[in-house]
Amino acid sequence: MGKVYLVGAGPGDPELLTLKAHRILKEADVVLYDALINREILRFTKPDCLKIYVGKRDGEHSLPQEEINELLYRFSRSYKIVVRLKGGDPFVFGRGGEELLYLREKGVEVEVVPGITSAVAAPSSTSIPVTHRGIASSFAVVTGHPNRGINWENFAKVDTLVILMGVKNRREIAKELIRAGRDPNEPVAFIEKATTPEQREVFTTLRELAQNPPEVNPPAVMVVGEVVEITYFNKDLIFQQDKLY
Ligand code: SAH
Repeated sequence: MGKVYLVGAGPGDPELLTLKAHRILKEADVVLYDALINREILRFTKPDCLKIYVGKRDGEHSLPQEEINELLYRFSRSYKIVVRLKGGDPFVFGRGGEELLYLREKGVEVEVVPGITSAVAAPSSTSIPVTHRGIASSFAVVTGHPNRGINWENFAKVDTLVILMGVKNRREIAKELIRAGRDPNEPVAFIEKATTPEQREVFTTLRELAQNPPEVNPPAVMVVGEVVEITYFNKDLIFQQDKLY
């Protein structure tokens, strides 16, 4: 009987993999990986390691979750080290919890290896602090997927909003946030393919986004809040503040 590791692969840059994830990948007999995984990371595996793509994109599954669960279970019967490799952290919109419960119920040993989530790494990599003294003392991470029935009013007063899977629905999200009471002038950033060589940033405001949304390509993290502005339009101010604190 083998062990299953639910491993976070980080946001993209292989150097943002944890040492623990790296070690376990080197030892793995089987790796089941997602669409958002940087394929370079798979090079850390042994030559005879079985690598299986169970890709998901934008919350849609190319393999149903039940089948992934079953595959993990079956592999745990015949291999010693089974790795379920997920983008970012396995428990941030990664359905890692479902896999954990399924496997534990069947008596399989499971260990979770946390990863750097894109929710924080994407803004951070582009110099947007999700919290900043005097400007933002809270942040929330929300799914922007249209079918999740998010009540945006709940997020009207959170200082910094980090929205994953929100590209397709970006215009509607902006409208909802304005309706919920957020300032239409609030700045918004999209960080595409964060921490990879193709990283690209798009800056706008809630009003602009609601009226005439700029082009954005997934995967991207959307950040709403004043912290976007302090970084991009007042670099000197940040510098002075950092000195003060
Ligand atoms: N478990 C992952 C999130 C999975 S949900 C994590 O912790 O990061 C998938 C969403 O994550 C995408 O729609 C996008 O919003 C975001 N995402 C993941 N990797 C990204 C990257 N490198 N750049 C920008 N967004 C990313």
